[in-house]
Amino acid sequence: MRLLRDCSYAELRSLMDTDGLAEVHTRALWNVLMRAPDAELDGHPRFLPPLRRWLQTHVGTTWSSELPEVEQEVESSDGHTTKLLLRLQDGSRIETVVMRYNGRQTACISTQAGCAMGCVFCATGQGGFSRHLSPGEVVGQVLVARRWATGLRNLVLMGMGEPLHNYDAVMKALDIIIDTRGINIGPSRITISTVGVVPGIRRMADERRPYHLALSLHAATDEKRSALIPVNRKWPLRELMDACRYYCAQTQRRIFVEWTLIEGENDSAQEAGRLSELLSGMNVQINLIPLNPTTGYSGRAAESRAVRAFQELILQKGIPCTVRQRRGIDVAAGCGQLAGVA
Ligand code: SAH
Ligand code: SF4
Repeated sequence: MRLLRDCSYAELRSLMDTDGLAEVHTRALWNVLMRAPDAELDGHPRFLPPLRRWLQTHVGTTWSSELPEVEQEVESSDGHTTKLLLRLQDGSRIETVVMRYNGRQTACISTQAGCAMGCVFCATGQGGFSRHLSPGEVVGQVLVARRWATGLRNLVLMGMGEPLHNYDAVMKALDIIIDTRGINIGPSRITISTVGVVPGIRRMADERRPYHLALSLHAATDEKRSALIPVNRKWPLRELMDACRYYCAQTQRRIFVEWTLIEGENDSAQEAGRLSELLSGMNVQINLIPLNPTTGYSGRAAESRAVRAFQELILQKGIPCTVRQRRGIDVAAGCGQLAGVA
């Protein structure tokens, strides 16, 4: 069964139009699907008889209105982070994380069940690839997250999976999410994080997608990066940096560079120097994140002294650089760790 939330408004409209339903019914259904997602469709008081009949014929047979089911909920001890283990229709499990800090509510959303990129330090990568998520499964996570954060307005596509490896479904989901008639999250509050899928970065630039782009770089030489991130062999640094420069030029946007600091691996002064050289002249901001330990990787988080020294060296080169907290670490905040143990 396909999900009703796989459809954009225009698709739902055309589907219902084919069956002879006027637009008022599409508006009523869309409104409930996106703005009152936990309501029962069957016998909904705002639905008129033609819509009720249409739903009775289609829902449960060709179309499903189901949201991902919350199978497990883990609250961090500081009370600011909730990690949800969600179960999809076919039994696949994914994670969604809800963060609430200083009145700012952000959801970290998954785009695939598992991931095919195989980054050695990442719990999701260690578990391998299961399948792509459909647009409705991405949209559904936002709606479920809103139960924990009613004022949710920020999204980061940094959960399980590589968003640009599932480009069409992810972009369609975001079209639905930013639709002002529905969920209505502003595109400037959405960040897509990629491991460096070069064709996807170029396509985002060509299509002028209005989202922030984060690049998980983590190493500044091909040798080191390929050891951490196997797809670097397919899209090595020179090609990746060309695509990023192209993206910045086409969109006039800044790229957020993610750098997971691993002790003795990529936290030295020499690495900081290489990184600033690699990014020279580019419109970037670097976010440093100490490694979150995972069972399948022996590396350790950089010490806080090394983190500060690394940041200082980058700042001296005139590149904006912040240190991100490992928030909610006690709920296994690293990507894919909850689904991995379930
Ligand atoms: N696939 C995308 C988005 C999901 S991963 C990507 O790789 O960008 C989101 C971020 O979490 C990436 O920057 C990734 O490198 C980082 N990450 C994964 N495992 C981590 C770990 N164990 N510790 C710290 N960061 C990790
Ligand atoms: Fe996939 Fe991102 Fe994890 Fe790499 S870091 S395995 S790309 S989810």
